[in-house]
Amino acid sequence: MKNNNSLHFDLDVKALHRWFLTNKRDLPWRSHPEPYAVWISEVMLQQTQVAVVIPFFERWMKLFPTVHALSEATLDQVIKAWEGLGYYSRARHLHEAAHYMMENFQGRFPSSEIELKKIKGLGPYTIGAILSFAFHHKMPAVDGNVMRVLTRYFWIPDDISQSKTQQFLRKVAAEILPEEDHWVTNEALIELGATVCKKTPVCSSCPLRASCAGYAKGRSAELPYKSLKMKSQKLWRAVPVILCDQKVLVKRGEKGKVMSDLYEFPFFEVAGQIPLEEVQRLILDQLSLHVIHQKSLEPVKHGFTCYQATLFPEMFRTLAPLEVEGYTWIDIQVLQKLALSSGHRQIFQKILLKPDS
Ligand code: SF4
Repeated sequence: MKNNNSLHFDLDVKALHRWFLTNKRDLPWRSHPEPYAVWISEVMLQQTQVAVVIPFFERWMKLFPTVHALSEATLDQVIKAWEGLGYYSRARHLHEAAHYMMENFQGRFPSSEIELKKIKGLGPYTIGAILSFAFHHKMPAVDGNVMRVLTRYFWIPDDISQSKTQQFLRKVAAEILPEEDHWVTNEALIELGATVCKKTPVCSSCPLRASCAGYAKGRSAELPYKSLKMKSQKLWRAVPVILCDQKVLVKRGEKGKVMSDLYEFPFFEVAGQIPLEEVQRLILDQLSLHVIHQKSLEPVKHGFTCYQATLFPEMFRTLAPLEVEGYTWIDIQVLQKLALSSGHRQIFQKILLKPDS
C-alpha cells in the first residue's frame, strides 16, 4: 500500500504504459533520443511550454547539431539562438558544458551519474532524463509534472518546495520503476502530468484513476502543496531609443547580472510613465546627449526573474554618435543579429516595422 514512511509504493505501470503508447505526443526529441538531443530539449523545457520549445529546438539542432558544433559556436551565437526562451544562464551553461565535454570526453556524453554531476547546469532531473531516455539506465526523472502526479496519486501533502520532499519524491519515483521499459514509465509520468494530471486535473481521461488516492478523496487539485511562491515585483522603466543615422545606442548586459550578454537600450527606473521633457532631461543628465524627439511607442510588458516590468519606449535622434560610457553605437542591421532581452526585442521590432512613421 502507499505510506510515506514505509517507502512501499506501487502504481499501475501497465495501465500507464498502455495509455502512453497510444496517447503520446509526437515530439521532435522523441524520435532520436540521443543524449545531446535529450539534454537540449530538457533544458529548453524547464519552465517553457512544449509548443514554444519545438521551433527553438529544431532551429538549435540545425545550428548546433552536436556537442562539437555547440563548442565551436561563439557565446553571442548561442545566446542569439536562445533569444526568446528566457533564463539566459541556461544557454551560457550549455555552451560551457559543451567545452567541458570536448575537453574531458572528446565531445561524447558521459553515461554515469557521477560524471554528469560535474557538468555545469545539470540538476537531478536533467541527469535522470539523460540517463533514462538516452542510456536506458534505471533512474527516476522527476520534474514538476511527475511531482504533480505522484503527490496526487499517493496523496503526499508535503511541501514540494522543500528539498527533502523533492528527494523523497525521487525515491518514490525510483521505487515504482519496473525492471523493463523503465524509461517508458518516466516518460509516461511526465506526459501524464503535462497533458492529463495538469494544474486542473482531467481525471476522467486518466489511466490511473481507479487507484489514485487524490481522485478517491475528490481532492486531487489541492496538491501539490508548495509554500514558496515568489511574488513578482512591479517595475516601470522609461526607455529612450536613441538613433544616429543607422546606428542605435545600446548596452550589453554585464557578466553575472540578470541580463548578462543581452543587449538593451538605455533605460531609467521611474515610478510610472513620465513626461517627455523629463525623459529628455534624464538623457542629458545621465548620457550627456542632446536629442530630438521622434515619436512615442506603445508601452511594452516584460517579465523576467521575479519582476514584471512596464517599458515606456520613446524614439529620439541625435546629430552625432558621441561616446557614452558603458554604451556602444551599433548599426541597426548588426543589432538584428544580436540577442536582446525580450522586452527590448519587442521595442526593436516596433522600430523595424515603422522606423520613421
Ligand atoms: S486520477 Fe486525476 S489526480 Fe489522479 S493521477 Fe490521474 S489525473 Fe492525476
